[in-house]
Amino acid sequence: MSVLVVAELTHAGDFHPMSWEALTAGRELAGQLGLPLSCLVIGGSLGDRSAEAAARGVTQVAAVEHALLSAYTADGFCSALTQALGQIAPQYVVFPHTYQVRDYGPKLATAVGRAFLSDCTSIRFDGAEPIFVKQVFQGKLSADFTLAGDAPRLFSVQSGAFAADAERPDSPAPIHALAIELDEAAIRVHPTEPYREAAGTADLSSAERIVSIGRGIKDPENIALAQRLADALGAELAASRPICDSGWLPLDRQVGSSGQTVKPKLYLALGISGAIQHLVGMKGSEVIAAINTDASAPIFEVADYGVVGDLFEVVPELLKQLEQS
Ligand SMILES: Cc1cc2nc3c(=O)[nH]c(=O)nc-3n(C[C@H](O)[C@H](O)[C@H](O)COP(=O)(O)OP(=O)(O)OC[C@H]3O[C@@H](n4cnc5c(N)ncnc54)[C@H](O)[C@@H]3O)c2cc1C
Repeated sequence: MSVLVVAELTHAGDFHPMSWEALTAGRELAGQLGLPLSCLVIGGSLGDRSAEAAARGVTQVAAVEHALLSAYTADGFCSALTQALGQIAPQYVVFPHTYQVRDYGPKLATAVGRAFLSDCTSIRFDGAEPIFVKQVFQGKLSADFTLAGDAPRLFSVQSGAFAADAERPDSPAPIHALAIELDEAAIRVHPTEPYREAAGTADLSSAERIVSIGRGIKDPENIALAQRLADALGAELAASRPICDSGWLPLDRQVGSSGQTVKPKLYLALGISGAIQHLVGMKGSEVIAAINTDASAPIFEVADYGVVGDLFEVVPELLKQLEQS
């Protein structure tokens, strides 16, 4: 019995960074339950990826490699993982809550006859019983769940809810290649060329400073004010989801669970309430500053510096100070 973390590869063949967040969740669970922690890597051509996973402080790596897994399909991944879970027989299986996992997770759970608890934000323990926390009603409530029934118990973890686990190259784990069989005729979906993002797409993940706007900006005409502040600070402009949903800024400027995850040295939030879906995308920033008229806005719970005030008064004053300095 073990806790098995399923790591995901991107189109480019690198690890999806959320794989290491899932590994942290798996490590927490394995530590509490006194179980070994293993990692499964799946894809068409794994190259050095299994060895990279083996340098992450796990007891063993399961490599699931097959030409029919080169392009992601729910049919292929589900069949391969069903066979892998049969061979490994883990107690718990942890997935990163990626788009791929959203797609095949429920199908896999049905195939192995188990429940799938998706998008968990934390794990706590009641004695030896793990309690999984996840948000319900569009993030308005947090609810506790336990996974009943026989192993394997499947759950996925929300982006940004767990810090990424560090590399531990000192004691590489053994790698076991699992033999699986896939039937080409059973794969009913034939993916075409992967979607390529347009040139010029903003990469907020490498920005050192970010000025981010929320609904408090009130009108698209006011974005120029935030842009002036961003320019003065040498920062990228970003936004909460409603701003991008309204088409006020492009979608690639959105920060949060359905946007980009950012870790700048400075994240300055203007008129953003701090809903959990926004926080998971920016709470890893080195310094967080927030300007909000509402002193009880949740953004102040993660902010290092906060101004309770009207951004239309505070930002012009900040610009004045920056221009003078
Ligand atoms: C599945 C799902 C995924 C989601 N993904 C994301 C995501 O990736 N990113 C994201 O951001 N959201 C996401 N959301 C939406 C999220 O739940 C919130 O609705 C959203 O983050 C709120 O945006 P906001 O803070 O701009 O707006 P609001 O919550 O309306 O907050 C506006 C804030 O501005 C303040 N304010 C008003 N006037 C002023 C002023 N003059 N000066 C200063 N402050 C002022 C108010 O006090 C308020 O706190 C998602 C939701 C769901 C259900």
